[in-house]
Amino acid sequence: MARRFSVIFVPEDNGHVRRVRIRSGVVKSALCCCLIVAGLFAFFAYSYFNFTVDRDELQRLRFATSQQRQTLKSLVVDLEEVHQQMNALAETEARVRQLANLEAVPQGIPVAIGGISETGSTETVDEIQRQINKLQVEIELRRQSQEGVRNLLNDQVSLSRATPQGWPTKGWLTSYFGMRKSPFTGRRVMHEGLDIAARVGTPVVATADGIVARVKHSSDYGKMVIVDHGYGYRTIFAHNSTTLVTAGQRVKRGDIVAKVGNTGKSTGSHLHYELRLNGVPIDPRKTL
Ligand SMILES: [Zn+2]
Repeated sequence: MARRFSVIFVPEDNGHVRRVRIRSGVVKSALCCCLIVAGLFAFFAYSYFNFTVDRDELQRLRFATSQQRQTLKSLVVDLEEVHQQMNALAETEARVRQLANLEAVPQGIPVAIGGISETGSTETVDEIQRQINKLQVEIELRRQSQEGVRNLLNDQVSLSRATPQGWPTKGWLTSYFGMRKSPFTGRRVMHEGLDIAARVGTPVVATADGIVARVKHSSDYGKMVIVDHGYGYRTIFAHNSTTLVTAGQRVKRGDIVAKVGNTGKSTGSHLHYELRLNGVPIDPRKTL
């Protein structure tokens, strides 16, 4: 390789040609410097580009994190509100249980579970998850407890509807429950119901919900209707002029089942009303 290089400058206006001699070492050094400068430039340009991208990304992430933190905070507030509402529900339920004469708190069911503010780190996802789990447990407990109350109230309502109550017809009492002198034989016999005098055709109504067990005509009781109310209760309506229901028919308290008459062994138009509990006649007067 030549030790020297010559650079010749030729002016375009036919001026004096100039020649500059440069040693090859200088040329190599210059080339090296150019390469280093170019390399440094490329490096810094690349770094700057990366820095700009990273900075934008960082800003975007910071913004997203800030928004997420706000969302988490509002979630914590919402959860706290839900929790307070659950506690209010628990209090209402406790009062309902008290009214229903149920034990205050069913076995194994806590009244309420602690609030969210008990812990310091409410902004973490773990904490929120923990609170959600708690609320889920609480909801399940409330559901179980309310189901118990509902079942009990349903039973009580059913029993109440099935318990004979009120007058079976509009009239006036002419004969009470108990021992009395028979109007037919003159001997003392047990009168197993109440006699209510009323005009022929006066409606006779069921005194409780139930199912018509029998509709028949007997020589003593005349045209009669027997209603089974469940819980051991049965009511008997005798001496009717006509019956308006059939066996197996479901009746509700107040439904007309027959009309007052004078059929069977009867000395005048009246309803013989009998109430039996587990087959044993009981005095219906207390239920009127
Ligand atoms: Zn009677």
